[in-house]
Amino acid sequence: MASKSVAKEASEIMLASEMIRLGARLQVLQAETSLSYDRLARLYREVKGCSPPKGMLPFSVDWFMTWLPNIHSSVFHSIYQFMDTRSPAKKSHALVEAYRLYLEQASTGRADEPFGEPVLSFTRAWMLIRFFDSNMVQLSYCERCKGGFVAHAHDPQKGFVCAICRPPPRAGKTRAHAAASTKAAGSAKALLDKEVVAGLTAGKTRRPAKSPTLPVMAEPSPA
Ligand SMILES: [Zn+2]
Repeated sequence: MASKSVAKEASEIMLASEMIRLGARLQVLQAETSLSYDRLARLYREVKGCSPPKGMLPFSVDWFMTWLPNIHSSVFHSIYQFMDTRSPAKKSHALVEAYRLYLEQASTGRADEPFGEPVLSFTRAWMLIRFFDSNMVQLSYCERCKGGFVAHAHDPQKGFVCAICRPPPRAGKTRAHAAASTKAAGSAKALLDKEVVAGLTAGKTRRPAKSPTLPVMAEPSPA
């Protein structure tokens, strides 16, 4: 009976730990390593400090077609393809590296909530690669920006326009976004009002010396 290589096991544990930190479900770890269920469950508890979630993995291909998930998964897939073909990282290592880069890109410009839930979870990213491998999805190329976007397999390529070039009317109108816009508008109004008041009390029409530049829209109100 061939004994299992300690070095191989060690590298699988490292890989599994990294995937757990990125949010992988137990089923993903079972598919990507040869470690036993019990060892993986123990590792999960050590890394996360809680039991692994139970239940089915998200199966739907349709999820990847709704506009925001579609943009995020297309970005992720393009990073993954690059990693898998042009870097030494292959397969599950390419997945980990690509997902880390995706998280970096997805949190850019979201300084106010850098640790918010990413649109594309690690498990969904893994599912997406599987969907590509089993030819359930394809890349369709946008007629306008020429970018490759995730689409249903066998969807007609002709006349395809992506969700960035033609966003749906409700795009960007989430509750969080609406709250942020209201806050920004409120701050801008407060700044404006103070300027008007300062101008009136000083009896001058020119801008007060204290604020030589235009008020920034998103600056938080000092009050
Ligand atoms: Zn486009």
